[in-house]
Amino acid sequence: MATPPKKRVLSGMRPTGKLHLGNYVGALENWVRMQEQYDCFFVIVDWHALTTDYADPSRLKENLVDVLLDWLAAGLDPAKCVMFIQSHVPTHAELHLLLSMITPVGWLERVPTYKEQRENIKGKDLDTYGFLGYPVLQAADILIYKADVVPVGEDQVAHVELTREIARRFNGFYAGKREYIFPEPAALLTPAPRLPGTDGRKMSKSYGNALLLTDAEPVVRQKLKTMVTDPRRIKRTDRGDPDVCPVGDLHKIFSSKETMAKVYEGCRSAGIGCIECKSWVADALVKILNPMQERRKKYEDNPRLAWDILEAGSARAREVAGATMDEVRKAMGLDYSRNDSPSDSPNVIPNGRSTSEPAKDSTK
Ligand code: SF4
Repeated sequence: MATPPKKRVLSGMRPTGKLHLGNYVGALENWVRMQEQYDCFFVIVDWHALTTDYADPSRLKENLVDVLLDWLAAGLDPAKCVMFIQSHVPTHAELHLLLSMITPVGWLERVPTYKEQRENIKGKDLDTYGFLGYPVLQAADILIYKADVVPVGEDQVAHVELTREIARRFNGFYAGKREYIFPEPAALLTPAPRLPGTDGRKMSKSYGNALLLTDAEPVVRQKLKTMVTDPRRIKRTDRGDPDVCPVGDLHKIFSSKETMAKVYEGCRSAGIGCIECKSWVADALVKILNPMQERRKKYEDNPRLAWDILEAGSARAREVAGATMDEVRKAMGLDYSRNDSPSDSPNVIPNGRSTSEPAKDSTK
């Protein structure tokens, strides 16, 4: 019996530069697992970066390469998944335009992140057409590959829901006798533990509290030394509680059960100091980061290898996206060519001249 085709997954990241541990546990680690089971397409969405950072694209290329290197370092394998650049598949833009024809503005204005980001991102004018429409671009990114599954964090669920609504509306208008043209993708909620940064807030590069995947061992240890702990442990003899300590949260994600037991016992009895406790979490992190950094080095030393991966991935993506666009154009009545023009109307060639008119000699 033939094995059923693998379900297709689409997910992406903005080219924001070097990734941190929060990106790893929140998405990347999951992607590495998914590439074994699914037909995965992972895209670096450079056009999405321009929806907010349109005024200064100077670091776009460098940031894009950093993201790709971190993907490869984390274990994404070009033999198991397709990695590509959004702008290298121009049909994303075509589908975005066509979907924008059928997407009511009200749907976009009620996307929760739209209002939230407009209010929270200071110093940038986000009253732009591109920013309002970015969920439509995201819908195009997903639908053009007919993705079955989109792994997302909680804040992105509304975007997948919007994609489903757009797909439904498109199918309603244009599927004709077919059941559908676009399958409605399902959001796969990835349980991402809240990863604290060194100041105890959520890890984020913009807070300056992040542990990067590229941080060398001395940097990791140094950053952890300054990490906030349970505020009740002022003196070495004070008892603490790993459940209210950000270092404890890191242990829960990265340390073994045995270490965890030592942390609970030692912290609650004041049997260990915070410096020792932090050195254990540093050990666990270094164990994860070292092999990543070794893999990354191979591509850093030979960036051509990384670009080859992106180019091959983009070519594969163009192939799949192109096939979908053939269907879309046909469904929307945009597949005209001179060979199948109706016989009772003049054939029209690209310069607008009827083929029944004699060609004018422009030299006269
Ligand atoms: S011993 Fe560890 S868990 Fe307890 S307060 Fe210090 S750093 Fe936090």
